[in-house]
Amino acid sequence: MKPACMPPRKRRFPLDELLSWWDRGRRPLPWRRERSAWRTWVSEVMLQQTRVETVIPYFQRFMLLFPAPARLADAADDTVMKAWEGLGYYQRIRNLQRAATLVVESYGGEVPGNPAEFTLLPGAGPYITAAVMSISFKHPLPAVDGNVLRVIARYRGSRADTRQTAQRDRVRRILARVIPPERPGDFNEALMELGALVCTPRKPDCGHCPLAAACRARRLGLTTQLPVRSRRTAPPQIDVAVAVVTHLGKILVRRRSDGHLNGLWEFPGGRLLAGETRKDAILRKCREELNVDLRIKEKIALVRHAYSHFRIQMAVYRAIPETPLPPTGENLRWVTPAELESLPLPGANRKALPAILEGLEKREEEKRS
Ligand code: SF4
Repeated sequence: MKPACMPPRKRRFPLDELLSWWDRGRRPLPWRRERSAWRTWVSEVMLQQTRVETVIPYFQRFMLLFPAPARLADAADDTVMKAWEGLGYYQRIRNLQRAATLVVESYGGEVPGNPAEFTLLPGAGPYITAAVMSISFKHPLPAVDGNVLRVIARYRGSRADTRQTAQRDRVRRILARVIPPERPGDFNEALMELGALVCTPRKPDCGHCPLAAACRARRLGLTTQLPVRSRRTAPPQIDVAVAVVTHLGKILVRRRSDGHLNGLWEFPGGRLLAGETRKDAILRKCREELNVDLRIKEKIALVRHAYSHFRIQMAVYRAIPETPLPPTGENLRWVTPAELESLPLPGANRKALPAILEGLEKREEEKRS
């Protein structure tokens, strides 16, 4: 029997069980075939905040367009943004393109295998660095994402708030002690896969979990109470009104050059000020930003869309210019409906597009008859 004064014995992390489970059960995802540091890097960037099923077709298309960093570095902005359109969190692709350019300039187009160098590239935070460096170069760095935080919180029976950075750092330190140097990438991917497939947020399937025998949450009946996550404040809702300005069968669009939608094309207009009507907001924004007066016609669409940190409700009106047309250029164009469809657009504009195109087509038909 253990004497009362002895500290409790440390549990052995079930490493062999985890890796055997991974060897048997990993999903054959596209980025796990034909492994390369570039493919791993792109997949990890896409997978941040985005579901696997959503990422798969984007990843496949992206790899056909940009099979190496040099191809992304050389690509035109519109081609790059179009390849990312709909994935959201556009800062990710802007960082990836800047990083690809640096990889070409400083590393001859090869992804650097030194964590100290890799982590200096745009967008390469602790998670991306650990994931790419462990999977592609066998550096024993734990990659801690939301799945891993959940698995480890339950495994340890921890009530610490997993939204806190300090807790993420703590989990990283804990895993640094158990990550096997001979299979660090497999270890990281196995924990993430376990969180995605078995230790899921709502219904963990403990009966099929390789960590079950040593899991505290399971033993204490806390699996549905853990992990603890502090509440997020609800994202603000923003009212926006935009104009589909038409002239001689073409539509006016401008390219954003700031904010999180930087690089995407949109219809002129913007956010409503307090007490302002939608039409007044469109007129004000078009005068301020394009120096053009409009005659606003009928409403074409009302769409709602959730971005990463806010939701918008966007009203779309047809309009025609009343003053001389603004000069077009790199960030302002008149486009045909077909060209409009091929441009990279923000989610709300893309959602409104079918109603806009249908409305314009109908008007053309009416004019002809
Ligand atoms: S035993 Fe259950 S709660 Fe514990 S890690 Fe496995 S799936 Fe999660």
